[in-house]
Amino acid sequence: MSLLRTRAAVAPLRRRLDDALTALPAVDALVAVERPEEPMHCLRPAAIAEAASGFVAGFPGEVLYAVKCNPEPAVLRAIWAGGVRHFDCASANEVALVRSMFPEAGIHFMHPIKARGAIRTAWGEHGVQDFVLDSAAELDKILAETGAGAAEGLGLFIRLGLPKGTAMLDLSGKFGAEPEEAAELLRAARPHAARLGLCFHVGSQMMDPLAWRQAMALAGEVIEAAGVPVEVVDVGGGFPVAYPGIEPPPLGAFFAEIEASFEALDLPGAVLWAEPGRALVAGGGSVVVQVQGRRGRDLYLNDGVYGALSDAGVPGFTFPVRLIRPEGPRASVPEEDFVFFGPTCDSADRMKGPFPLPADVREGDWIEIGQLGAYGACLRTAFNGFDRARLVEVRDRPMLECDRHRWNGRRRESHDRTKLRQAA
Ligand SMILES: *Cc1c(COP(=O)(O)O)cnc(C)c1O
Repeated sequence: MSLLRTRAAVAPLRRRLDDALTALPAVDALVAVERPEEPMHCLRPAAIAEAASGFVAGFPGEVLYAVKCNPEPAVLRAIWAGGVRHFDCASANEVALVRSMFPEAGIHFMHPIKARGAIRTAWGEHGVQDFVLDSAAELDKILAETGAGAAEGLGLFIRLGLPKGTAMLDLSGKFGAEPEEAAELLRAARPHAARLGLCFHVGSQMMDPLAWRQAMALAGEVIEAAGVPVEVVDVGGGFPVAYPGIEPPPLGAFFAEIEASFEALDLPGAVLWAEPGRALVAGGGSVVVQVQGRRGRDLYLNDGVYGALSDAGVPGFTFPVRLIRPEGPRASVPEEDFVFFGPTCDSADRMKGPFPLPADVREGDWIEIGQLGAYGACLRTAFNGFDRARLVEVRDRPMLECDRHRWNGRRRESHDRTKLRQAA
């Protein structure tokens, strides 16, 4: 993040969002002018604001943006512009960043095992009142470091562990109390809490709305066993987005499942919270990489799994791709499937795709890789010296669109080809 903030940025980054929405350059025009030899991260603030406002309008409760998913200040501004006023933070740095940008924001410290100093500064300096825990030890830690309780407005949230699910990125193994322990923690926390909540996280890119129904049912059992009232049920994040060949149900199907299963619990006075990350920002980011070498179907790029393409490595996500060649492609060329390699010397720096591109792709070409607004640039490392990149804001639409909560599957590439043909 510090790198992202200190490196050179083109002028549009400094503009206010409403100017940015109308006056931003297009990706292709930027590539034609800049001919970037380093990865160029392209943010689409309008797309992020739109996804955020769609989620806020559709979700039957409060929406907290999961900052870890993309903490770039320009992203946070777009999230705010979309109407999100609450942020799920997991570290002292995330808390300080959000507070520095939005004095009025609700900040919620949703990491179950926190540094003592982080709790102290969050409570004492940044006005954070809500803290997650999944153990009695963490409850003691929070009470000791805040020195607060119900009278001071302390909010305590018990993270319930879930059985291993079917999310593309399973997160069940690390955090969360077993049901019995969670019930005990609810009872133990109740006297200290002005707000008591139960939260869970079904795993990232969860394609099945029923996962929330099952988790909600378990949450209901835990709350009943605890025998104390709760004010919040927080259904976490994990809401899916489209990737090539992956077509999630519309978000509305998830919201309907969550609302119905929550109402079935019949918890008087309780409200719903959600912590989406990916669903708000995935479409709002892409990276433009340059081809530095080609061997058969293998393309050697200037970015890889130690850069913004971590999820294209071992997790094996495929991302939408399109060729950018400012002088225009040669006469229509059929597509072939390519494998990508990143610039580091590690043989693990390989992305199997497959990534379909025109068969004549060659050294010097640029490739835009889309749906990278979530868990892309923020996972970059400086390994092997490849830590340089630029950040620009652009006016392009996401490379895969979910229009009005409906996937339409249209690849931007075909649109671009039309444009290029007209220009030729
Ligand atoms: C990562 C995380 C999120 C966001 O998950 P997405 O899959 O990006 O929506 C929300 N809540 C918790 C507790 C998380 O760890």
